[in-house]
Amino acid sequence: MSEVNELQLMLKLLSQAYAGQLPEKIKQIEQSWRQFPIIGWDQDEFLNLHRLVHGLTGSGKTFGFSALSDSARELENYLYFLGQAKTELNAVQRDKVSLLLAGVSLAANQPDKPGSAQVNLIPVKAVRAKARNTRRIFVVEHDRELAWELKTQLKYFEYDVKLFYTLEDFRRAIRQDSRGVVLMDINFPEDPLGGVHVMPELQRNRQTPLQVIFLSSHSELEVRLEAVRAGGVAYLMKPVNLGVLVDKLDELTSASVAPAPRVLIVDDDVNLSNYHARVLEHAGMSVKVVNDPLDVMRPLQDFSPDLILVDIYMPGCSGLELAKVIRQIDAFVSIPIVFLSSETNLDKQLAALVLGADDFLTKSIEAHQLVSSINSRIKRSLLLRSFMVRDGLTGLLNHIAIKDQLVGQIAQAKRHARSITFAMLDIDHFKKVNDSYGHPVGDRVIKSLSRLLKQRLRENDLVGRYGGEEFAVVLIDADGAAAMKVMDAIRHDFSQLRHLAKDQEFSASFSCGLAEMKNFDNASRLTDAADMALYKAKHAGRNQVVLADASYPA
Ligand code: GH3
Ligand code: MG
Ligand code: MG
Repeated sequence: MSEVNELQLMLKLLSQAYAGQLPEKIKQIEQSWRQFPIIGWDQDEFLNLHRLVHGLTGSGKTFGFSALSDSARELENYLYFLGQAKTELNAVQRDKVSLLLAGVSLAANQPDKPGSAQVNLIPVKAVRAKARNTRRIFVVEHDRELAWELKTQLKYFEYDVKLFYTLEDFRRAIRQDSRGVVLMDINFPEDPLGGVHVMPELQRNRQTPLQVIFLSSHSELEVRLEAVRAGGVAYLMKPVNLGVLVDKLDELTSASVAPAPRVLIVDDDVNLSNYHARVLEHAGMSVKVVNDPLDVMRPLQDFSPDLILVDIYMPGCSGLELAKVIRQIDAFVSIPIVFLSSETNLDKQLAALVLGADDFLTKSIEAHQLVSSINSRIKRSLLLRSFMVRDGLTGLLNHIAIKDQLVGQIAQAKRHARSITFAMLDIDHFKKVNDSYGHPVGDRVIKSLSRLLKQRLRENDLVGRYGGEEFAVVLIDADGAAAMKVMDAIRHDFSQLRHLAKDQEFSASFSCGLAEMKNFDNASRLTDAADMALYKAKHAGRNQVVLADASYPA
């Protein structure tokens, strides 16, 4: 179901529920009015009455009771007028209230014609695309303590947080500085739904609607629906679950646009291969051209293509032979190979497919066909590969993949005389977390650590989930001291995070062992040494990072 249809259906169900609740609401208003003193003025009772009427003003139209909205507004306006004076009501005033109230009660039985309620959806996809790449968060929260807490916690996830304690301050600031996600409290002293009510005004005349996550202590559907209408992309209940919030923020702000797919073209025809390269580059791919098939080994390793496009007829080595060779290298068993040739002979095409070609394109192929067929090949293969190498819960490299990567990275570091450091992490007393708060909460803690690692490490560092609550990191171009600094900062920040389980807050920590390649020069020695260092960190009291010294048994 499309987002619009889904919302349309939700609206229908809500309208039915709303209609069912109306008699009770009218009764409450009538009762409050009956209780209002004939002699003197009762401010509390007045506010109660006003609140009840106001509720109908806002919600009636939404749920298909426009007449009710209108008559409630009339009554509300009159009450507002009376509320200014705060003096005993005279007979005329009392009659007028009663009359207006009768109108409200009548209108509650006059729903609009069916199907007239409409949903105006802000196109979410467009909103998302625009807001990417900014990690600015505007927190608009009346409760200063909570606002500070949010700021402190979000800072650990590298969010740039600006605080506003009043709607007015935010209103002023957002005029100049408009890129970011808004974390908006709903309840403000001047208006219990102030956070929602202020949004239409702020969204008006804005090219890109503001993305708003509402924070609320109300779970009523009416409030939720108003929040959706105000452009709310999420609605989180207080107390705020930090894990859920950061997941949402990551989704909205994620700068990690997938890297350009890499295509290696092997073709002796210089002009044609360059033309194909331009076509694919224009479609956003990263392309490398090799005109001599015998030169293919180095780019294969260094460029690490996602797909190889090979000409069939080349001097020195045919495309078919080349495919055979590539398929015999472990690391390239599953890389898609697409043949490109003027060959129209069916037997030759079949022979190519038998040799492990994934597709066969003819050289006169049109540009858009080339792009779409290459694109779909790459997508499929990346998806399959991600199932094989990624961990389902965290999206990190899985155990096998991180071990493979370590071997590859050691080889590369040796070639370029660079250093790498290997880190093993294990969450402290994790059994207690599961036992006290349940397995799903434990999973959230695992996810929050994985997120922190991904965000705080450099892009080419490799992060894996080694086991249940164990992680492994390959820090590229980092010696022991540099790695120690980075991992210790992450350790500190992780220990400061507050996790939420129902209404309880708790924190967790991890221990970490490091080993640098300088002292342990192959993958298994490096892993053993990091493991030993981790063991040491655990025994020295946990929540610390220990660097393996060179004298560790190998
Ligand atoms: P320490 O490492 O500090 O010595 O104590 P610990 O309590 O963490 O010890 P241990 O490594 O023995 O326990 C790990 C626990 O992690 C046991 C297991 O139930 C739990 N666990 C493993 N995988 C997962 C997972 O995917 N999700 C959750 N929630 N728990 C997991
Ligand atoms: Mg463990
Ligand atoms: Mg543990």
